Amino acid sequence: MKRFVLFLAALLAACGDATGPEVPGLAATLPRAGAGDVSVATPIRLTFPRDIRLPTDTAGAVWLTEGTARVPARVTQPTGAVLLLTPPDILNPATRYTVHIGAGITDSRGTVAATAFDFTTRGARTPQVDGARLIGHVRALAHDSMQGRGSLTPAELKAASYIRAEFGRYGLSAVSSGEWFQTFAVTGVGNSQNVVGVLRGAGSLQDEWVIIGGHYDHIGIRNGLINNGADDNASGTAAVLELARLLAQHKSNNGFGSADRRSLMFVAFGAEELGLVGSNFYCKYPLVPLTSVSAMINMDMIGRLQNNTVYLIGENTGQEWAAMVRRYNATFTYAAMGDAGTDYRCFKTAGRPVMSLFTGLHADYHKPTDDTELIDVPGFTAIAQLALELAVNTAVRPRPFTP
Ligand SMILES: [Zn+2]
Repeated sequence: MKRFVLFLAALLAACGDATGPEVPGLAATLPRAGAGDVSVATPIRLTFPRDIRLPTDTAGAVWLTEGTARVPARVTQPTGAVLLLTPPDILNPATRYTVHIGAGITDSRGTVAATAFDFTTRGARTPQVDGARLIGHVRALAHDSMQGRGSLTPAELKAASYIRAEFGRYGLSAVSSGEWFQTFAVTGVGNSQNVVGVLRGAGSLQDEWVIIGGHYDHIGIRNGLINNGADDNASGTAAVLELARLLAQHKSNNGFGSADRRSLMFVAFGAEELGLVGSNFYCKYPLVPLTSVSAMINMDMIGRLQNNTVYLIGENTGQEWAAMVRRYNATFTYAAMGDAGTDYRCFKTAGRPVMSLFTGLHADYHKPTDDTELIDVPGFTAIAQLALELAVNTAVRPRPFTP
């Protein structure tokens, strides 16, 4: 493991003014360079040549930035010559951060000179969602040949088969022995299935799970007209697929930049339109213990961004969500929604942290006009990217969400 040991003393001394006070050198040791390594669990450790004293304004004495944005970080009062800078545990992999030493730190020789130095967290930057692939999935799932993916119909099964084939192609695993479907029956009506694919995590967090879900069924044919359900919810399903593809690739490339990461479970829920039947079945017969689910990220109707507003359902289930969403997309306007009838609900009831994304109702909701042409691809892509960032960072954050 490469260690970043920055000895700036020699450099600073070389630049020092011989007639002025000696510029005290600074040797700063970063614990290890990595997204999972520089975190609340392993703060950035700054070691000074001599014992130091901090000014009252610790935040003005030492801080962290990403680009020009200040990253909230806690400064621990020094023990002798060592000072700890604890970042939030949501640092991005492969992002360059700067540690700043500001004014007011003193040691026995005077004031420690202001300085700044960079470090880069390990791993590749989160991959980018491909808008063309997203809308390609919507076009396929909301095509007339899918007959509106009516719950409990052969058309729903056809959509499920499409999703299963994609999961397999990306290198996901079935939960057990090649079984991609979690099949359930609605008495007297028919069968449906949740489609489930898994990416196992690693290290100390691998037995915790992040579920990334969205329902794929819709309302089928009514009055002889096909309801294609492009926004509801081919959009969320397409995002589940694209996240699965990218995260499978990301995992094999660099392991998310962290030795410890949670396992990911991608679930396309069936029979949502009949009253959240698929997700309720999942919560009743969970494929991993619900207590091991660290977070559930749901997407239902995310393709029709209006007034740049993204509705967040579940923000109050984890104190960290609010800062995370704003960190990963500061350009959206966020509106909290108390409740929405979609698949996060039973996970929330079970006390799990949930985050459901939604771009709001529109005139084409549950109408034959909810078609692919009306999807706002750039907005849709940005929301899927946000979900991807949340998924990666939820997978690697050392601590569980704070209720
Ligand atoms: Zn829906």
